[in-house]
Amino acid sequence: SSLYRIDGWGAPYFIANSSGNISVRPHGSETLPHQDIDLLKIVKKVTGPKSSGGLGLQLPLIVRFPDVLKNRLECLQSAFDYAIKSQGYDSHYQGVYPVKCNQDRFVVEDIVKFGSSFRFGLEAGSKPEILLAMSCLCKGSSDAFLVCNGFKDAEYISLALLGRKLALNTVIVLEQEEELDLVIELSQKMNVRPVIGLRAKLRTKHSGHFGSTSGEKGKFGLTTTQIVRVVRKLRQSGMLDCLQLLHFHIGSQIPSTSLLSDGVAEAAQLYCELVRLGAHMKVIDIGGGLGIDYDGSKSGESDLSVAYSLEEYAEAVVASVRVVCDRSSVKHPVICSESGRAIVSHHSVLIFEAVSADKPMVHQATPGDIQFLLEGNEEARANYEDLYAAVMRGDHESCLLYVDQLKQRCVEGFKEGVLSIEQLASVDGLCEWVLKAIGASDPVHTYNINLSVFTSIPDLWGIDQLFPIVPIHKLDQRPGARGILSDLTCDSDGKINKFIGGESSLPLHELDKNGSGGRYFLGMFLGGAYEEALGGVHNLFGGPSVVRVSQSDGPHSFAVTRAVPGQSSADVLRAMQHEPELMFQTLKHRAEEMMHTKGGSEGENEEEEEDDEFNNVAASLDRSFHNMPYLA
Ligand code: PLP
Repeated sequence: SSLYRIDGWGAPYFIANSSGNISVRPHGSETLPHQDIDLLKIVKKVTGPKSSGGLGLQLPLIVRFPDVLKNRLECLQSAFDYAIKSQGYDSHYQGVYPVKCNQDRFVVEDIVKFGSSFRFGLEAGSKPEILLAMSCLCKGSSDAFLVCNGFKDAEYISLALLGRKLALNTVIVLEQEEELDLVIELSQKMNVRPVIGLRAKLRTKHSGHFGSTSGEKGKFGLTTTQIVRVVRKLRQSGMLDCLQLLHFHIGSQIPSTSLLSDGVAEAAQLYCELVRLGAHMKVIDIGGGLGIDYDGSKSGESDLSVAYSLEEYAEAVVASVRVVCDRSSVKHPVICSESGRAIVSHHSVLIFEAVSADKPMVHQATPGDIQFLLEGNEEARANYEDLYAAVMRGDHESCLLYVDQLKQRCVEGFKEGVLSIEQLASVDGLCEWVLKAIGASDPVHTYNINLSVFTSIPDLWGIDQLFPIVPIHKLDQRPGARGILSDLTCDSDGKINKFIGGESSLPLHELDKNGSGGRYFLGMFLGGAYEEALGGVHNLFGGPSVVRVSQSDGPHSFAVTRAVPGQSSADVLRAMQHEPELMFQTLKHRAEEMMHTKGGSEGENEEEEEDDEFNNVAASLDRSFHNMPYLA
């Protein structure tokens, strides 16, 4: 297992067990030995025929472990609880989970359920996400935050305001200055007092791949000038008390606590300034960025590793906020974080199968096979004799040179029609034989895997992110080969030839189709965040609408011959296992409760008003489910 560094990236959830398989320790370090779950047994159960008690499913397969999710959430919470207690910090930690990291229904529902005792909330970044966050949080703690980030139009802001009517703790985080006018206008129209946050562009910059969101030129957030204008406008509108949260996000995978402390301290100073300007500040939301150690090196030297533990992360955050606020005698804020990667990465494992492997040395010829070259092909024969002599002398350098020359000459001969295909194959075989004899052959095989890299590991293709990939069995046998992985798609980018540890191939076992069991299963680990969510419906935006337009001689010179609307919010939610009809009912029911029971209506008029309001809320929710997620 040391070959694959399982102890590094896998701890405390994945271990190589005594049968040579990978076991999952669902409760992390709290797992008792009898609670370990052997991944190979899961695969056998899931893929086995129904007639013998299996589920008859095919690979590839994502296996989710809700216990791991629970453990991650609890570890995060207790890391902050501990830092807060030990540093005498005078408030609490109350995190949110950014649903974009994995919007799967059961992941989100589990997080709300597991986190409700410590008021854990959700972060949404688009309209379908806020719909799903609202309906999930109806079953969670009423104090839990629903942080509303992302680009917002009137419909998004109305949904967030409606959330407050439903007694959900929605916070509208301004990402762009223009959003403020909409918030002021709609909150007055809907008669809701909003809770407003603002996202600041910090000067602290995270220089890794994931840091492009940080710094003054980052994509999101308000500059200092804009923040000052927002405060002024809120004051003029009599709404400065609504501004209660300061948010920033300097990028995912923050490599070190020193960068983290810098960013948090800058934000904490901004927080203190907002307090001084009269905002009723309560929460500092430090965004995501809590990294995980994909390569197990704990070095923080690349995007693949971070040089801190959960505990050290929490300590650094709490210390920075405390020091800055104490300096300005500002009451300690509630600390919120939006950790996605750190919560969901470990809980799912992608399992796939290597179905075949090429054999580069299919035909190994020996010098004796090459007699034909001596007939009629003088140049090739000269090359061959040079090579032969070099082999006899043990002169490896010349061997490499003559192998190249011989191959080149023979390819030319083939193109000219002088050499037959069998002869060319024999030359290739001879060259392989020589290279192997002098220890210079390329031992890397191509293993074909039944997977689409684009669908299941999009970041590997898109941003060269690496994940631990390991056979989930045979770890007690020495791998006899090295391989790269080639996926099923007809696209040459659909391959994996970089692995953690900087390797360009992976130690793999030879495929043994005739042996017992015969199949060879690999697992990709730590991919529970982003990978599923990116595969097509990132942030639940779904596909665009599609039309077919043909030239036509009518009044417009064209005719739309087919129009297919893009997916609605309901459609994309359904794709992540949610049931939009049920969600709509949940929210409608909540609205009914809130609106018909709040004041014990007296007059007939008031009752009518309540009915009207309820009908409006229901209609606007219904519209939001049926519209496309893009800005209107
Ligand atoms: N919050 C915001 C605003 C983000 O953009 C992101 C992701 O980039 C996150 C939270 C989650 O970050 P992470 O996965 O690093 O925890």
